[in-house]
Amino acid sequence: MLPNFSYVRAKSVTEVVRALAAPGARLHAGGTDLLGCLRDGVVKADKVVSLSGVAALRGITKPAAGGLRIGALTTLAELAANKEVVERYPALAQAALAVGSPQLRNQGTIGGNVCQRPRCWYFRGDFNCLRKGGDTCYAMQGENQYHAIFGGSACCMVHPSDTAVALVALGARARIAGPGGTRTLPFSTFFVLPAKTVTAETVLARGEVLTDILLPASDGATKSSFRKVRSRGAWDFALASVALAVSLDAAGTVKQAHVVLGAAAPAPWRAADAEKSLVGNKLTADLAARAAEAAVKGAETLSQNGYKVPLFRGLVEEQLLAMA
Ligand SMILES: Cc1cc2nc3c(=O)[nH]c(=O)nc-3n(C[C@H](O)[C@H](O)[C@H](O)COP(=O)(O)OP(=O)(O)OC[C@H]3O[C@@H](n4cnc5c(N)ncnc54)[C@H](O)[C@@H]3O)c2cc1C
Ligand code: SF4
Repeated sequence: MLPNFSYVRAKSVTEVVRALAAPGARLHAGGTDLLGCLRDGVVKADKVVSLSGVAALRGITKPAAGGLRIGALTTLAELAANKEVVERYPALAQAALAVGSPQLRNQGTIGGNVCQRPRCWYFRGDFNCLRKGGDTCYAMQGENQYHAIFGGSACCMVHPSDTAVALVALGARARIAGPGGTRTLPFSTFFVLPAKTVTAETVLARGEVLTDILLPASDGATKSSFRKVRSRGAWDFALASVALAVSLDAAGTVKQAHVVLGAAAPAPWRAADAEKSLVGNKLTADLAARAAEAAVKGAETLSQNGYKVPLFRGLVEEQLLAMA
């Protein structure tokens, strides 16, 4: 059952920020994650601040400076169907389409997708683990088949958002509003690893709200893609995913490469060695295999997730070959 809380339907970002200043206030966008967390006692809220009345947070527009601006309240279904996104930023459209079921994509928003809480079953269950303020990570020695092979340290959950992986690959930026005004930062620094803080997944401070996602102007030479592997065909989180944004010259030589792994770490994981191995070289089958090997270099597997290493290796190689 849902606990009692007060409910505020804000009309503007200023009202959202004001309402969020109260202790125990939480944001509500589509509610597909938040309401489950409240019902199951994963998080508590004294006040729920709804974004649904803030028209400024909806829709996809083209700023004069180029690129694309996506309001945080844009649904995943709108994103997946948007012509500009499909044609110019296919990795993002493919990632939005890979989320859950049609019902979830109709209700769930891009802001809620990147700010959703972890799916680790201990975190979602009755375990007061490190991420909930306790002193133990139960997954380290427990059921960890879906957990991290990179960046785990104190907490080895994997970040659950599909779109986050694509946003990092595409070099998107997050616009954030809060009590101190607005700030904009790259999505590559929006998500935090447990080595920095174990009780939060993003840099959002108390009272802050993600208002917009800003995609850089597409140069026409960059190709992007997203692919996700899950245990069953639909309605499931990733076992592994990869987003690529690769720019090739006319001769097929890689000028720039972003290789980002999802469900690999507590945040979208840049495979820096794979990126380095690609740049300056012709994208051949041999290079794709070497880059895939580099993408899993340094993986630290747990007792039950060793299968992720060949899975990621295969995914990266396959996606690079498809791009070539
Ligand atoms: C059965 C099921 C399957 C799912 N499958 C997938 C999947 O395959 N892939 C995937 O990526 N996700 C999946 N999800 C997770 C999630 O529900 C959706 O991804 C959805 O996009 C969340 O968006 P929402 O608008 O409903 O968020 P909400 O539930 O409203 O919010 C989620 C969290 O984000 C915060 N928040 C919301 N908007 C903002 C904002 N603008 N600024 C700051 N904080 C904000 C809220 O306070 C809350 O903590 C699944 C969920 C369920 C229940
Ligand atoms: S992996 Fe993280 S969320 Fe899961 S039990 Fe460990 S500390 Fe908690």
